[in-house]
Formats: sequence, C-alpha cells, structure tokens
Amino acid sequence: MTWKDAKLVPGWSDTTLVSDSVGAADTNTHKYVQKRKGKKPILSSRQLGRYLNKFASCSYAFIRSMRGKKRIIALMNIMIFPVIAFSFISLTASTSEFCYDEGHCDPYSWGDSYPTCHPLLESHHSPINLDHDVTRDQALEALQLEGFDSVQKGQWRLRNDGHTVVLEVGSGMTVSGGGLPGTYSTLQLHFHWGSLATNGSEHTIHTYRLPMEMHIVNMKTIHPNLTSAMEDQTGLAVLAVFIDVSYTENANFTPITTALSSVAHRGQSVAIRPFPLASLLPQDHLGLYYRYHGSLTTPPCSQVVVWSVYEVPVHISWSQYERFAVGVFSTEEETDQDVLLQNNFRHVHLTYSRRVYASKDAQLLGAACPAAAPGSGLLLLSLLPLLLSHMDPTPDGS
Ligand SMILES: [Zn+2]
Repeated sequence: MTWKDAKLVPGWSDTTLVSDSVGAADTNTHKYVQKRKGKKPILSSRQLGRYLNKFASCSYAFIRSMRGKKRIIALMNIMIFPVIAFSFISLTASTSEFCYDEGHCDPYSWGDSYPTCHPLLESHHSPINLDHDVTRDQALEALQLEGFDSVQKGQWRLRNDGHTVVLEVGSGMTVSGGGLPGTYSTLQLHFHWGSLATNGSEHTIHTYRLPMEMHIVNMKTIHPNLTSAMEDQTGLAVLAVFIDVSYTENANFTPITTALSSVAHRGQSVAIRPFPLASLLPQDHLGLYYRYHGSLTTPPCSQVVVWSVYEVPVHISWSQYERFAVGVFSTEEETDQDVLLQNNFRHVHLTYSRRVYASKDAQLLGAACPAAAPGSGLLLLSLLPLLLSHMDPTPDGS
C-alpha cells in the first residue's frame, strides 16, 4: 500500500460529519484571511454554445470543400472531435477542486462535482452528531492497536494537501478487535480544525463542537489498494480523536506542531522521525468510544467507513492550536494571496435509521452542551462528573 494508490481517488484526504446550529464556518472573524476570488467555470453555457455554433459552421464549409473518400474521412474526424473534447471537459470537471469556505465549492456544494457526496435519504454520511440516542453494545471493548506503542522503522512524512495536514505513517501498524470486521492496516492520520474564534471538530457531541479532531485512517488488510477498499462497505476504519485546548503543551504532539511551519503551504512535505502513535490517543480511556457506519468526510464521500469516535479528548496548548489555525495555508507558496486553511470540517449529517453504538464503557451520554469557542472544551471536561451524575440511564443493547 503506497500513497500513490491513495491518489487514485480524487481529492481524497480522508484516506479522509441535527441541526446545524454550530455547523457553519465563521468567516467574519478571520482577519488574517485574504479571500480567494471565486474560480470561474471552465466554460459558461453561453461560451460553449458560441463555440459549438462556430465549430458546426466551419465544419460544414470544410466538408463541402471535400470530394469522395476525403469527404467521408473529414466527416468522421469532425464527429470524433466533440467526443474527445467533451471527454476532456468532463474529466476536468470530475476532478474539480473542493473547498470549505467558498460558496461554489464548500461542503454543501460538493455534490455538484461529486454526486456521491449528495446526502440522499437514508444515506450513511459522516460526520454525525452524537447524542443520547445510542445503543450500548457490551461486545465493544477497546480496539487492539498493534504497533502503536513502538517506534516504527524508516521515516514518516507530514504533508499539506491543501485541505488538511496529513501524516503518512508507512506500514507496520494494524487495528483490529472492538467489533471491527477484520484487521486494518494504518495508513495515515490527519486533522480538522477551526479558527482562533471557532471550533473545528467534525463530529459533535450534543451539537457541541470541539476545537479539533484527528482521524487515524486504516484500510482492511485484505485489499491490495484503496480502489479495492472503496468498493467494500467496511473497507476503511477511521479512529476519530477529539482534541481540546488546554493550558499546557502536549509534548506528544510536538513532532507534528513544530513541523507545521515546514508544510505551511499546499504541496509542501517534510520527513518526521517515527514516534509511538499511541501517544496521540486518550491512552487511559481507549475503551470509551462510539461506533457507527459512515463515509469519508471529503470527496468522494464514499460510504465505506467504520467509525470509532473516542469519547474523551486529548489536549494541546493554545500555542500548539494556533500553529494549525493561523499557520497552515490552503494555497501554494508562490501565489499572490495566501489563504489560511481554517474550518476544514464537513457539516454533520442525519443518522436516519442507522444505529450508533456506545462501547461497553462509554459514558458521556445525556445532558446537552452549548456551542463555544476554542478552550471552553476544558469547561466541558471539568463539568463531566456533574454531567455524568445527571445522566439518563444508558439504553440497553438488544
Ligand atoms: Zn478526516
């Protein structure tokens, strides 16, 4: 499995989800952001009509000037040309760019270019809001994370793909157990964040959005590549970890946060010395998570993901959070206007008839939480014992 395989999927960063009361990106507070002008479509319908008209009249004159076999060959060539031209245009359109903060390419319009991103009735899209409507599954114990405690050989690579920052971790780690339908090989992890004034996790708990979310992406080992895994409804398993902002630096994230300045612009990458991946997880609470079937949260939004969303967040400091929020750009280095990469999360989707399962030991159910700015997740955590003491009885799995 190489990252080259991943590139077979256009725009894929997730190897990369109510009421949308906290879902809209706040674009008014980004004093650092210089808005990128909207890209024009390749051809407007009026331009296309004008070109076709001209093409038809020129072709007619050209064919009239030919005789015999030459006229037939010219006619065939002219008939083939539009097919090639339209194939090119549709190919270009199918790989069109997606974004988070501009109307013509934001998550609500992804379906225009990527039909599989349309949240149709009963579809299984991600992220979702996690609330009290979950089913306890006593069989969901902590996942088995092989190789997460050791230092892998070789080099890892941190990369800015314009939509997120991805840490490609090579091979050597697997995820299994915890009700997963197979063993999955860890490919990469990446992040979703907000801005200095807005939170940016993808999943929400009681509509509460936390500052950041990390996704560890794993592919079922029976598949030779991502193309194959994308044809399997459970081809990918993603571990989601909420990240809150705290007072103290989290040294476990330092290899990543200090390297962000080297990948500030789209397309840049830097080598990272491997470290135990377990250090980025809520290590004392690995048995507390939620499980549901969903999708990639970036185009093509394929519904092939078994999600495990850890309940207890990990923490980083405010200055570490700032390195993401105002230190990473969605634009390349040599562009006229730098555009900060912020609020790179997809809006939450309805669960419809899907069941969301709480692991055997998951606890955070019941009380509603208000939306708030980065840092206030600390408040949520400090209120956790109080919330739990007033919690509704957990629904019993049956
Ligand atoms: Zn993601």
